[in-house]
Amino acid sequence: MEKKNIDWANLGFSYISCDSRYVSNYKDGSWDEGGQVADETIALNECACVLQYAQTCFEGLKAYTTQDGRIVTFRPDLNASRMADTAKRLEMPVFDEQRFVDAVCETVLANEAYVPPYGSGATLYIRPYMFGTNAVIGVKPADEYQFRVFTTPVGPYFKGGAKPLTLCVSDFDRAAPRGTGHVKGGLNYAMSLHAIVTAHKNGFDENMYLDAATRTKVEETGGANFIFITKDNKVVTPKSDSILPSITRRSLLYVAEKYLGMEVVEREVLFDEVKEFAECGLCGTAAVISPVGKIVDHGKEINIPSGMDDMGPVTRKLYDTLTGIQMGRLEAPEGWIKVIK
Ligand SMILES: *Cc1c(COP(=O)(O)O)cnc(C)c1O
Repeated sequence: MEKKNIDWANLGFSYISCDSRYVSNYKDGSWDEGGQVADETIALNECACVLQYAQTCFEGLKAYTTQDGRIVTFRPDLNASRMADTAKRLEMPVFDEQRFVDAVCETVLANEAYVPPYGSGATLYIRPYMFGTNAVIGVKPADEYQFRVFTTPVGPYFKGGAKPLTLCVSDFDRAAPRGTGHVKGGLNYAMSLHAIVTAHKNGFDENMYLDAATRTKVEETGGANFIFITKDNKVVTPKSDSILPSITRRSLLYVAEKYLGMEVVEREVLFDEVKEFAECGLCGTAAVISPVGKIVDHGKEINIPSGMDDMGPVTRKLYDTLTGIQMGRLEAPEGWIKVIK
């Protein structure tokens, strides 16, 4: 297998078209057989439900080359079931979970030449997604859908070490109580764009969203869940019905408990207690954990004790353990690693 001539270590996080992608269409109440296609473009009716009413959802996961040269992906079954949950909430047909995993593996294999080599720090990002395709002008769910999976190689998230982030407490809300914050729909991202552009303009890396009802509790950022480390070495993560259940966060909590012997607590986290924590990190597929060094609430600064130079020691241990599992350096819990080749 000859790899593409790509400067893996210097890849960023932007779209690069690969050779092949998976497509399946839903019509008359069922999904067709599906398969690989070469064309990266999509022709759609001008009145497609996705274009008019944003009926679309997605997932994100990665394929890795392990130390012993296998190509694997991490817990794709959880992405499959999360997409099924999202689809139900958005009145879209569920794409069978086993077929989802098969489509992911098949697409990675078809783009094997783009899977970055072990040790490069780069990975192959995988994007499954689904959208309503037929013309819908009166507001209702589409009758026809397309499910696709594309891949794109992405670079090491932390080039030259993990720089702790500075967050601001957003004046915007991400998700309403009883809304759609717990599902991975494009709609949650459309409304976050103004908030993130505003945060960047003001010199911040990310938004910390508070709960919309009381604005006293920590929710998450636009695309990552929080974990906090207490001064007595416990892992705390916010519990809320309106945050997206991150697979990385769930995996890190398991690792903290089962590999590192730490106590793990999922509970409501008041913004007022954030200043008491020793470390803070953002969890998601893209970076695994991004350390947070500072949180600014309308001019009032909370300086996280782990500082602005590097990850805190517990965050580092969690990061090393989970990435060790993903890269095949540490033994994985049963069912976590799906071997593609
Ligand atoms: C995708 C996503 C995450 C991270 O989830 P992972 O499964 O860990 O990648 C966190 N928050 C939001 C809002 C997301 O959309």
